[in-house]
Amino acid sequence: MNDQVPFTVDRRNRVIRQPNRAAYDQGSIFAIVDQALVCHVSFIENDQPVCIPMLFSRIDRQLVFHGATSSRLMKTIAGGCELCVTVVLLDGLVMARSLFHHSMNYRSVSLFGRGREVSDVDEKLAALKSLSDKVMIGRWDDARAPNQKELKATMVAMVEIESAAAKVRSGGPVDDVADMDLPVWVGEIQFHQNALVETDRSSSITEIPGYVNNHVMRFNTKD
Ligand SMILES: Cc1cc2nc3c(=O)[nH]c(=O)nc-3n(C[C@H](O)[C@H](O)[C@H](O)COP(=O)(O)OP(=O)(O)OC[C@H]3O[C@@H](n4cnc5c(N)ncnc54)[C@H](O)[C@@H]3O)c2cc1C
Repeated sequence: MNDQVPFTVDRRNRVIRQPNRAAYDQGSIFAIVDQALVCHVSFIENDQPVCIPMLFSRIDRQLVFHGATSSRLMKTIAGGCELCVTVVLLDGLVMARSLFHHSMNYRSVSLFGRGREVSDVDEKLAALKSLSDKVMIGRWDDARAPNQKELKATMVAMVEIESAAAKVRSGGPVDDVADMDLPVWVGEIQFHQNALVETDRSSSITEIPGYVNNHVMRFNTKD
């Protein structure tokens, strides 16, 4: 699919509540997906809804997951059942004059698709590198590469994104006109994540590598 073509809007992904906050273009959706480290993967197992947090990355229109070869989660993802994956970046708390109009500012995405196991060694290594890069660019070339035993113990699955939607709220409170003169503090509490680096006492390298400092700088300056 062309990068510019938005996801088709259908019963799975149509944002019904406050559709003015919705986006279906790949640029808006993938910007949120790429900034989030953790997603929640949902599926139905024997009529039981299950939702599990996971690290993930993206290669083109596919989400990448990894875990123990023996895990229920990875077997389920790789098994090809219908999955719903959600991602949220929490930007702030919105404090209004009435409790009813309190809100949160956020960027969130829901994605739908089915997974498959990645068995080809080159594709598996590329997928694992994309996960490593998601955590920290530069780490893949510095830390020891996975050996055969570790590769065997690790299952990698990719989920082709068939459908997706983003929903974004930003800005201050939207109060009722009748409440505007109430003597209540209103405003937004914005969240900015900060990363700090601490070298482990067991480390033989005490100087912090450049790619780690770069990562922290990027992390602390991103929106
Ligand atoms: C930030 C984060 C990132 C993670 N990244 C990965 C990853 O990349 N790959 C990976 O394989 N695992 C990851 N995990 C662990 C993952 O959430 C699961 O615990 C693990 O994969 C086992 O899942 P399962 O369904 O096979 O476990 P099972 O033990 O079979 O799950 C049985 C039940 O245990 C409970 N449970 C399982 N996991 C959790 C949990 N995390 N929190 C609360 N209850 C739980 C649920 O009720 C679940 O239905 C991550 C966890 C967190 C919090």
